[in-house]
Amino acid sequence: MSKNNTIDLDFDKKHIWHPYTSMIDPLPVYPVSHTDGAYLYLESGEQLIDGMASWWSAIHGYNHPKLVNAITEQATTMSHIMFGSITHAPAITLCKKLVEITPAPLQKVFLADSGSVSVEVAIKMALQYWLSQGQHTKSKLMTAKKGYHGDTFAAMSVCDPVNSMHSMYQGFLPEHIFVPAPSASIAGDVNQQELLELELTFKQHHHEVAAFIIEPIVQNAGGMNFYHPAYLAKLRALCDEYNVLLILDEIATGFGRTGKLFASEHANISPDILCIGKALTGGMMTLSATLTTDNIALGISKGSAGVLMHGPTFMGNPLACAVASASIELLFENDWQAQVTRISKAMQALTQCIQLDEVQDVRILGAIGVVEVNRTIDVAKIQKFFISQGLWIRPFGKLIYIMPPYITSDQHITALCNGIYAAIVQQQY
Ligand SMILES: *Cc1c(COP(=O)(O)O)cnc(C)c1O
Repeated sequence: MSKNNTIDLDFDKKHIWHPYTSMIDPLPVYPVSHTDGAYLYLESGEQLIDGMASWWSAIHGYNHPKLVNAITEQATTMSHIMFGSITHAPAITLCKKLVEITPAPLQKVFLADSGSVSVEVAIKMALQYWLSQGQHTKSKLMTAKKGYHGDTFAAMSVCDPVNSMHSMYQGFLPEHIFVPAPSASIAGDVNQQELLELELTFKQHHHEVAAFIIEPIVQNAGGMNFYHPAYLAKLRALCDEYNVLLILDEIATGFGRTGKLFASEHANISPDILCIGKALTGGMMTLSATLTTDNIALGISKGSAGVLMHGPTFMGNPLACAVASASIELLFENDWQAQVTRISKAMQALTQCIQLDEVQDVRILGAIGVVEVNRTIDVAKIQKFFISQGLWIRPFGKLIYIMPPYITSDQHITALCNGIYAAIVQQQY
């Protein structure tokens, strides 16, 4: 049943900004009427298999009754209350779970409202920590190219300088120290040369650097780069040796996506500061968290400010906390490890693409599959094709990638992989 005439697409086009789109020549948008399980339903009636999990977040699929109940019940009790001088059970229950499932040294939790804000908070923690130690020269960050950490200003300043259009904001963004993107792939050999160069950069700059920030193992929106755990292990060692804090941004990789609960486990390390978001609420609401160690939290609090200078209005929102707790419970009830292993196997179907001349690389890790093609993709064209095949996939740059909900069946994974193959073979990009 089509309800197309109830959707004012003309108003949308004239008045509403979508992510990274032009107001003159916007990409087409597809009206979605509802979601269910592994599917999106368009107003025009099509049923689409979801390959995106709404940008890494809807790990249990859509409208899961346990998650819907968690929100509904919480909404009838207390939807929101300020977090200043007030606390509540949903926040305490969630933070207990977060302290329990994240690497052991992380004991202090800051709840924030989106991934970008959790990165801002992480950066503040690092800067304030060194200030409180009397180290006034440690005011820069170090990071690797091809990173993505969000769209707010401090987060943007550590995104890949090319992809994030640093040049446009020159003079406005703080200038940080960039090292080359990790080049040794997760499946390949360790690149000793790049580890040596990394060490040289630490030697040269450590006295002015508060923290190194990076997405562990998978650099996502900056290029879907899957890098070697030895790089991460080396980073941890260098940070310890040179008194630089390590911030890991697991906003995309957290909650099982790479085959480990947190991607830092691929290198058996833990960060000084951890950012999580996206899948934290199973994609039901916006919520993020920044976790740190006792040492850093106490260090900040002993400083002249005495407090961490941040406190969003919607901090610890009870609805978001309640659904995040339910999502974490569901992760373990559903045996996420078995789900992700199964999806990873089914995604091997993507390797058929490697024989195509147009394909430069195929990478699969956990429940993430990437096909890199030889030219910038025409997003409008390829999306039209995918929808004709009953699929929801949204590429960027030269990358066609999928990170479906963990409940996605093998049959649906195969359909997503075959659809990508067909799009390339039929030049629909
Ligand atoms: C999405 C993302 C962010 C930003 O999160 P928002 O909720 O969009 O602000 C930051 N870092 C990484 C690694 C991400 O994938």
